This record gives sequence, C-alpha cells and structure tokens, in this order.
Amino acid sequence: MSKQKISKKKSIRRAKTMTEVVISLVLVGTCGFFVKNTFSNMRDVEASPYFDQTDIEVTTPTDTTVPDPNQTIYESSQVNTTDKFRGDLVLVNEQHQYFGGDEDLVSITDMNYENEVSCYTAVDSTYTILRHVYEPMTKMVQDFYDKYYNDTLIIYGSYRTTEFQQQLYEEDLAQTGDGESTRVAKPGFSEHETGLAFDFTESVNHDYDGTGDFEWINKNCYKYGFVVRYTEEKQRLTKIQNEPWHFRYVGIPHAYYMTTNNLCLEEYIDLVREHPYDKDHLEFSYDGNDYEVYFVASDDGAEKTTVPVPTGTRYEISGNNVDGFIVTVYKGQKPVVEEAPTKSFDDEDTDAEENSTEDTEASEDSSDESSDGEDY
Ligand SMILES: [Zn+2]
Repeated sequence: MSKQKISKKKSIRRAKTMTEVVISLVLVGTCGFFVKNTFSNMRDVEASPYFDQTDIEVTTPTDTTVPDPNQTIYESSQVNTTDKFRGDLVLVNEQHQYFGGDEDLVSITDMNYENEVSCYTAVDSTYTILRHVYEPMTKMVQDFYDKYYNDTLIIYGSYRTTEFQQQLYEEDLAQTGDGESTRVAKPGFSEHETGLAFDFTESVNHDYDGTGDFEWINKNCYKYGFVVRYTEEKQRLTKIQNEPWHFRYVGIPHAYYMTTNNLCLEEYIDLVREHPYDKDHLEFSYDGNDYEVYFVASDDGAEKTTVPVPTGTRYEISGNNVDGFIVTVYKGQKPVVEEAPTKSFDDEDTDAEENSTEDTEASEDSSDESSDGEDY
C-alpha cells in the first residue's frame, strides 16, 4: 500500500468526522433555537390573575333536583298602586271610602230585554250594575225561578253615583233633623257606589226578607259569587243593620270561603292579610277547583306596585281598598284570554241623576232603633 493511498484514506476519514461534527453542531444549534424560543414564549405568558390567590372557590354543579311540575312559578306584574281601590274585593264601609269612577255598567232591564230574561226586573232602565255582575246575578235568579216558578223579584237598589248617595244622605238629614245620619251611608262610603251590590224587593208585599221561597237565594247565593253582606250577627263589625235583601258580589271562591267559614268581608280582608305572598297562602277547594289566595301590600310611595303572579295559570288581582292587593289563583286552570270588549247596547242611560228614581229602600225599617246605619 502506498503512502498516497494511506493519506487518501485518512483524508476521507477526516472529512467524515468533520461532516459528523458539522451535523452535530447544526442539530445542537437547532435544538438550542427551539429551547430558547420556548423559554422566551414562556416569559411572554402573562401571570394568572389568580396566581397569588389561594381561596378560589371551585364550584361543581351539585343541584341535580328536577323542578316539580306542580310547583307554581311566579313572575312579577307591575300594577298601578291606585288600583288597590278597584276590584271585586274592595272593602267599602264607614271607615273605607270608595274612590271609584269609570265603572263598566249595564242597565239591568235593557240587558234582560236583550237576553230575553223575564224572571225578574228592576225598577226602571236607569238601574245599572257592573257588566260582569249582571250574568251571575241573572243566573242565580233564573235558577231560583226554575225551582219555585217565582217571578216576583225586583232589583230596587243597584249602582249609585256619589252624587245620588249625597242626595239620599241629605234627604235623610232633612227628615230626621240630625246633623249626621245613622241610617244612610255617607256619600263615598256606600257599597252601592261600587256597582258590585244590589238589593231585592218583591212585587207582592214589597218586603224581601230572605224567608219562604227566597231562603233558597240567601242560602245559595255564594255559589254564584254573592254574599249576604249585612247580617245581625256581624253588625258590630259592619256597622250596618241586618239587611237580608242586600247582596254583594265578591266572586265564587271568596263567596264560598266567607259563607262556609261565617266571615263578613271585614273579617275576610283581615284573614287574607295574614296570608302574604312570602308566607303560607290561603288554600282551599270548592266544586272541584283548587284556589290559592294571598295578599300583597301596596307600595304607596310609588306609582307602581310589584305583584307576584303565577306564570301560565289563571289568576285575578283585586285591590282591597285598604292597604294592598289580593291575588286569587285558579290552580290548574289556563289563563283567561281577554276578549275584546263588546258594547252590546247603548248605555248612555247609566247616568247618575237618572238613578234618582225614588229608592223604595228609604221606606224600609224606618222605625229601626239601631244606631248603626242602614245601607241605603
Ligand atoms: Zn243595599
């Protein structure tokens, strides 16, 4: 082997070694680049705001309860605070004035004519009542007629304007010579001004006392949403003497509860107040229907009061005319879709002054010694 050959082999080996070194250096350099970049990227990451925080609350969803489909869900309804003076459950008595207006009234005789109702009548066409009270009143009298074939009933007291009440009051003062009437409710303080109340008389003796055939009406009126408002037993609370002829509409559930529990409206309003929204509601059933009743105090400093109402369930809100609202829930019933109001007849005649037909009630019981008022 020649020297030249040996040196060639050596140079090849050297070149190989050099190549390996270069490759190694390149690899090391590449790795170094990536490592460097990685570290510099790490430096760019901002510190977690929770870095020094040791009290992080870790919440894991634990509430797996399925909502009870029978559970009532409530939502907020904004009601005009002054609406506490309106509704079927307003308490109007010598302490609580009625601030009405805009009552939706119908003439009883006009409605009877239109609906071909002949089992009862009113003194004349100026006798009016709230539109939604006409139907239950008529149904009650119709059922009474179907049972006894007695068509002698006459409405001789119904809606009165405050002006008409004033006139009755002044007439009574003139008659008695007293400074204050103990027989006629002061203007603004008679239930008749609400359009929710009416008085019966009958055409034979002109003396409806709720006896004989008529006992059926006084016993069953709650089934139609009415209560006998003034009884002797409750006179100390109502301050009105026994008036078996005076009926007041409050709606079926309330009439049922009041009648079966022997409560006058004064007592019932107090009872409902003990069942505010955030406590136990007043619950009862009647005629296959379940009811829930609760009280919401009015926010007297504000224009609106927030009233919780059930979602997707029929309910009614009424003011109590004292300090708030009463919500009646018709459990399990769908909300009632409001129909567009239909004016079925011309009610120009609902004017107050035309109600000035002599009120036969004035002749009732004038000899009564009671110091309490009569609900004229
Ligand atoms: Zn009356």
